[in-house]
Parts: sequence; structure tokens; C-alpha cells
Amino acid sequence: KKIISIIGARPQFIKHAPIQLALERVAISRTIHTGQHFDENMSDIFFKELKMNPPDYKFKLKGKSHAEQTAEMMVQIEKILLNEQPEAVLVYGDTNSTLAGALAAAKLQIRLIHIEAGLRSFNREMPEEINRVLTDHVSDLLFCPSETAMTNLRVEGVTQNVHLCGDVMKDMIKIAEPFLKNHLPGKPYYFATIHRPYNTDNPTRMKALLEAFQNLKAPVIFPVHPRTTGRITEFNLDINSYPNIVSIPPVGYFDSLSYQRHSNGVITDSGGMQKEAYWLRKKCLTIRKETEWIETLEHGWNHLIYDDLEKIQDSLFMEVPGPNNDMLYGSYTNSNEIVQTIYDFLI
Ligand code: UDP
Repeated sequence: KKIISIIGARPQFIKHAPIQLALERVAISRTIHTGQHFDENMSDIFFKELKMNPPDYKFKLKGKSHAEQTAEMMVQIEKILLNEQPEAVLVYGDTNSTLAGALAAAKLQIRLIHIEAGLRSFNREMPEEINRVLTDHVSDLLFCPSETAMTNLRVEGVTQNVHLCGDVMKDMIKIAEPFLKNHLPGKPYYFATIHRPYNTDNPTRMKALLEAFQNLKAPVIFPVHPRTTGRITEFNLDINSYPNIVSIPPVGYFDSLSYQRHSNGVITDSGGMQKEAYWLRKKCLTIRKETEWIETLEHGWNHLIYDDLEKIQDSLFMEVPGPNNDMLYGSYTNSNEIVQTIYDFLI
């Protein structure tokens, strides 16, 4: 059986690493890289670090807007699918690449597999939320990382071939954990990432966030996502004028985990890092109004902060969180279980 996986953004390279390994054992596995993220430190570094096979197809996108990007990807994906005739298409998460792959496959009546299905923020201002809902509704085989995700799908009437399977990022973290050295021994610091449009696209908001980081009582190591760099420049903000912020280019996967593991707390609007902080037993402050990963909020491991940015410091200092028995989001062999289920579904 032939399966074509479609990836294009940083978190998808990471999610695909353990799945690709498992897939290759049971199927002909091909990969399309849509080129949504293309900088060396947002793309190639992950293929190298995680020892992944290079993609079989890679696009160079010209479009900037959501519609242009998604349409361009769809046109190119359709051609490949017609040519390759796979038994199934596999997509991850909630990016424009996910949606483009989902629509192209569904229209050609190729079976569609969605990993990280059923997540909802219930905030339709997030482009990701639109991508998730639409992808789930045209998928033939769905893998949910949590009971909450299963319930969300049930409420929307999506009940066929839905599996509770844990989170593939958890498999990766178990592999990586022994290698996570402290880059700054003896120095307290916070680790921050910000890239969601509602935090970066408004100059007042972007400035308020930089000021909030400036006011923390330990330095903030801040690998800056390309979209955030773009906005900071566009808004004529000077990140070097905030001496408490140590801005660095985006880092690789192992460095991201190392910085989190040895930090005094993680500050982020990333989806993946809320889970990683939890698994690494680090307190996380999520700079958002809501989260799809609500389980991490239990016992105080993760807190949502949006309007009251001045509360970041106090929240980081709050009492040690409650139990964290590592039980969230499945086992450490989620990818093997997923691939076995895919195999059983396709034969
Ligand atoms: N990450 C990374 N380098 C960085 C920042 C994050 O490798 O400079 C990793 C992070 O550890 C996690 C993933 O990227 O595994 C999360 O991706 P991102 O925040 O871009 O997307 P989201 O999870 O919000 O969809």
C-alpha cells in the first residue's frame, strides 16, 4: 500500500519523524513538503536532526495570503496524487498544508487520515480552527490525542473510524530527553516563543508583550519565529532595546527541548510547547485566551494569560504545581499504535 504524507510547517516535521519510521516498515511511504516553512532553521534543520528521509516532493510557494497559499498547494498536491495513485493521504494538525492536502485527497476520493484530530479552541478567529474543523469533516480515519478531542468530534457528529491514540510528540520527547544538556548552567532564565497572529499582528500588542518580557526578573531567551521578526521590523520596534530579552533565531528541536527543560518556566503561544513543558515538568504560561490542550491546565502546570500581561511574573512564581504523573496524551509508543491502526484500516 502506498501512503502519501503531507507536511509543511515546523511542528509537522517533528510529528512526522516517528510516524515516517513506523510507516516505512509497513507501506510505501512518500512525503510532500509544501514549502509553507522554508527557512533552514524552520525546515531543513529538523530533517537533519531527526534523521528523516528528505521529502519526495517539495514546493516553492509564491502566494502570501491564506487563499493563495492553500490554492497553490492544492493544485500541486492534486497533480502528484493523480500521478502516484496512493491508497491514502496522511495529514497532521491544523495548518494550511493540512487543509490543502485534505481537500485535494477528499475530492479525488483518496482515503484521508488525520493525525491530531478533534482539537478545538472554539475560536474561529484562528485560521487553524477553520483548518481543523474542515479537515476532520472530510477525513476517513481520525486519530485523537485526548478524550476531549474524541468528545469534540462526537458533538459534531464525526464518529466513524475515530481512534483515541495519544500524541506523537510524546514519543519524540522520550527519545530526546536523555540528550537535553543545559546550555546556561547556573543561570536562571525563562524560555519564550510567540507567533500566533493575535499576539504578533497588532503593534500595540506586540510592544506590550516585549515590555512584559522586559519586566521579568530573569532573562527571557526568545527564539524569534520568522513571522514575529517580520512584524517587529514592520512596526519599527527594536528588540535590542529590551536588554532582558535575549533574542535568537529559531532553534532546532533538541535545543528547544533543552532550553525548556532547564528553564525556570516556559512562556508561549505554541500548541506543541504547552505539552512539551508539561512532559518536561516545567511551568507554562500560555499567552492566549483559550487552549486546545485543556488537560495541561489541571493541577496548575499551564496557565492562560492574555490581557493581564503584568501577571506573568506572579504566575511563574506561584506555588509548585500539583501532580504530574505523565499520563496525559497516551504512551510513548503512540506512533506505532497509529501506524498499526492505519495498516489494519487499509487492508
Ligand atoms: N520549536 C523548535 N524551535 C524553536 C521553537 C519551537 O524546534 O525555536 C519546536 C517546539 O519544541 C515544538 C514545536 O517546535 O516541538 C512547536 O511548533 P510551533 O510552536 O511552531 O507550532 P504549534 O505547536 O503552535 O503548532
